[in-house]
Amino acid sequence: MLVYPSNLGVFKVGLRTPEEYLESLKDGREIYYRGKKVSDITTHEVLSAAVKHAMDLFKLQFDPKYKKMLVYNDPEYGEISSFYKIPRNSSDLKDRFKLIYETTRYGRGMFNIIKAIGSDALFGLMIVTKKMDKELGTSYYERVMKYYNYIVKNDLALAVAQTDVKGDRSLRPHQQSDPDLYLRIVKTNEKGIIVRGAKVHTTQAIAANEIIVLPTRAMTEKDKEYALAFAIPANTKGLKLISRPMKAVEEAIKDPSFIMGRMNVENETLTVFDDVFVPWERVFMAGEWPFAGPLAITFPIFHRFTAISYRAAMADLLIGVAKLLAEFNGVDNKSHIRRDVVEVIKYKELLRSTAIASCDLCIIDKLTKIAIPNIIITNVGKLLANENYLNVVKHVIDVAGGLAATAPSLKDFESPEISQYLEKYLVGKKGITAKERIAIFNLLRELISSFGALFGVAMMHAEGSIEASVIELYRSYNYDSNKELALYASGLKKEILPSNNL
Ligand SMILES: Cc1cc2nc3c(=O)[nH]c(=O)nc-3n(C[C@H](O)[C@H](O)[C@H](O)COP(=O)(O)OP(=O)(O)OC[C@H]3O[C@@H](n4cnc5c(N)ncnc54)[C@H](O)[C@@H]3O)c2cc1C
Repeated sequence: MLVYPSNLGVFKVGLRTPEEYLESLKDGREIYYRGKKVSDITTHEVLSAAVKHAMDLFKLQFDPKYKKMLVYNDPEYGEISSFYKIPRNSSDLKDRFKLIYETTRYGRGMFNIIKAIGSDALFGLMIVTKKMDKELGTSYYERVMKYYNYIVKNDLALAVAQTDVKGDRSLRPHQQSDPDLYLRIVKTNEKGIIVRGAKVHTTQAIAANEIIVLPTRAMTEKDKEYALAFAIPANTKGLKLISRPMKAVEEAIKDPSFIMGRMNVENETLTVFDDVFVPWERVFMAGEWPFAGPLAITFPIFHRFTAISYRAAMADLLIGVAKLLAEFNGVDNKSHIRRDVVEVIKYKELLRSTAIASCDLCIIDKLTKIAIPNIIITNVGKLLANENYLNVVKHVIDVAGGLAATAPSLKDFESPEISQYLEKYLVGKKGITAKERIAIFNLLRELISSFGALFGVAMMHAEGSIEASVIELYRSYNYDSNKELALYASGLKKEILPSNNL
């Protein structure tokens, strides 16, 4: 069995093949699906689909058509995954946008998170621990960099558990009826810490080698034991990964014409830490409560940039479905159909524009020299995606018509008794077979039915809820030049100078 040392010793040095990645998941990790313990994730009838999707990133780094994008030749490490390249300027961020966008397109419009979210977290950790060390005299940055070295050299797959279960949302961690409703330190000794609690919605923890844990919110001094960041291997004793039901895969197993459900899915878990031991070398914050807030918001800047990048690619799929159905149904160019399709184009192009603009207007962190995507533009893009996804789907459904829900299965085309009726009655515009037309309806049905709940909820909440972006925008926006303009226009100020804030 191919394993890697969890004590941050280096094992592989170099890019892993899909087979090496797959083998690394057979490590005794504790996963539950629909109440049953999963003995081997890589062969599980349902969950293995999420692993297969993650494997694509390992496959593509050896594919001549994708290698240039997925592999970075680092002067220090040699060939590494481009996801782990630390961005130093707007051009590096643009490469990252392209990487996330193109790998999502390769995944039929499904984001592939397994290296993106972990690198977002590592960049956030580098920036915040450097500042923390400077102000508090701690030495966390060095630990983060040692851990980063371990991840890069072993080409590991990562999940990030930030969102706590949170109990009563109106209460702070220390005020909850049960102290474990936010993940906390229950014991500290010379070897490390013991943590208890649960995180929720952890994407692809089941398919990750390592799980990085971050605080979900700002903390007060009374929440000190909750100001916590660390990383552990996915097979750590006491870590329990309780999977959500994967409707998209279960449906696709029944109906092979649902391709996405078999090939391109991600999984979320309730991630329970039942008195889990974390050695000090893997602890990046333990009680430094004034820095929980900065870490809780620095990781999401990178992660929301990732969000607008993958959501732009997801929107490509919706444009394609809407335009093909408009053509197949013979309504292409009808005025309201045009407006429907243009609504989806608008959504995609606004996401693409905010992604590119947030690279162009990035800021360089003074201490680490890491390029941070523009916080305002990133959050505007993210908010736009949160608020408009369901509306965009409404426009695609308007173009499609009722067959988006009621079309027969593609399997019916294989039946000698009924295929003739389908071929005769389900045609649209001349030149397109009924089967071709129904294949696109079938895809739309998969997106809005077996993936429907996930996409609807994810597009509103994943990478932070609507309110999280509203708060960030309201707080971070620099109002000086706006107020100055209002004062000038009202006559309260006599002169206006160039704002220099474009
Ligand atoms: C598909 C998916 C994948 C995800 N992947 C990950 C992941 O990989 N890692 C991870 O850490 N997280 C992940 N998340 C979590 C995501 O970031 C959260 O869903 C999001 O932050 C909202 O948190 P919540 O789900 O607990 O909802 P809540 O916080 O309960 O929000 C529900 C509503 O209550 C409001 N609310 C909550 N608290 C307050 C308050 N104190 N005052 C006023 N209003 C409040 C919110 O604004 C929102 O409107 C994922 C989520 C989804 C849906």
